[in-house]
Amino acid sequence: MARINLKVPFKDKDIAKSLGAKWDKDKKVWFTSYGGETQRFYKWLLPIKEEDIDLKADYFYIAETTRQCWECKRKTKVFCFLLESYCFIDAESEFDESENWKSFWIEEDYPSFISEITRLNEKAQLAMLNHTERFKASKSEYIANHCDHCDALQGDFYLHEEPGIAFCPVNEKEIKRIKLYKVDEPFEAAGCHSWSSIFEDYDVINICLQKPRKGWFWGK
Ligand SMILES: [Zn+2]
Repeated sequence: MARINLKVPFKDKDIAKSLGAKWDKDKKVWFTSYGGETQRFYKWLLPIKEEDIDLKADYFYIAETTRQCWECKRKTKVFCFLLESYCFIDAESEFDESENWKSFWIEEDYPSFISEITRLNEKAQLAMLNHTERFKASKSEYIANHCDHCDALQGDFYLHEEPGIAFCPVNEKEIKRIKLYKVDEPFEAAGCHSWSSIFEDYDVINICLQKPRKGWFWGK
């Protein structure tokens, strides 16, 4: 497992330790394992580097809907990010070493739900934390939803790939089950984007858009 260095102020060292951060004696830095519960450490995450990310946008939406938990069969909220217009790295071009890596950012003006997020910038983490602590990194390769009741992992495949459920609506009734909250903060992540004809057939963003939420994140 790769590690993530944390920028923990001296006064916070006991909190960091109690949350499971480890101290690197040689490098004199606190760290956590990437793929562990990095959400716990959002306050101290170092800015993610350009080479870590393959998606970026000037603003983003948090999408919220419900599904039946596969484990306890109860209804649970599930979340993801939606980007309206964004830039992504063309994965196939990355292997062409003769060109500058940064030149492969491609602009996309077609909306996409984002799945399988493995890195996420602090602002997006904070915005998501304002909605839920159930969207977190554990028992999975990526930051994923967990059941409100039994904590079972709600894998992205079943939220994004099965037509008709969660973040894969195929008609207006299913679109209306999704709530979108706009966040005017930059978004940077490593994750997967996709193409769906639903955005061509319906004005999904306007149908689902909610009033801005109030909370500690927004009140700052
Ligand atoms: Zn459950």
